[in-house]
Amino acid sequence: MYAGEVVERAMTAELFRAPQHPYTRGLLSCVPVPGRVQRDKPLGSIPGVVPAIEPGFAGCAFRSRCGHATEACTREIPRRPVGEAHDYLCQLEPDWAELQPA
Ligand code: SF4
Repeated sequence: MYAGEVVERAMTAELFRAPQHPYTRGLLSCVPVPGRVQRDKPLGSIPGVVPAIEPGFAGCAFRSRCGHATEACTREIPRRPVGEAHDYLCQLEPDWAELQPA
């Protein structure tokens, strides 16, 4: 969830294996994974803060913090299905290579 909206839905294993929404990916990059964390390096973080959502706000609430934001992100955002039980809310096309079964 981001700013009160479900931005990605998937079964747990699928979400961890192939997250599609930039916010989901950002959150997962903040998780300290044993063997991948270096003691002298900071953990990942998502720059910025959650914006105040005023009445009449349009587009993606994550756009002020997203490295992929474009003009299209100020308009209505499509919910993209990428499987029977996986979808996400974003202008970006799915990364089909990542979504292939392991
Ligand atoms: S809709 Fe745009 S701003 Fe929002 S997550 Fe997708 S690319 Fe980023």
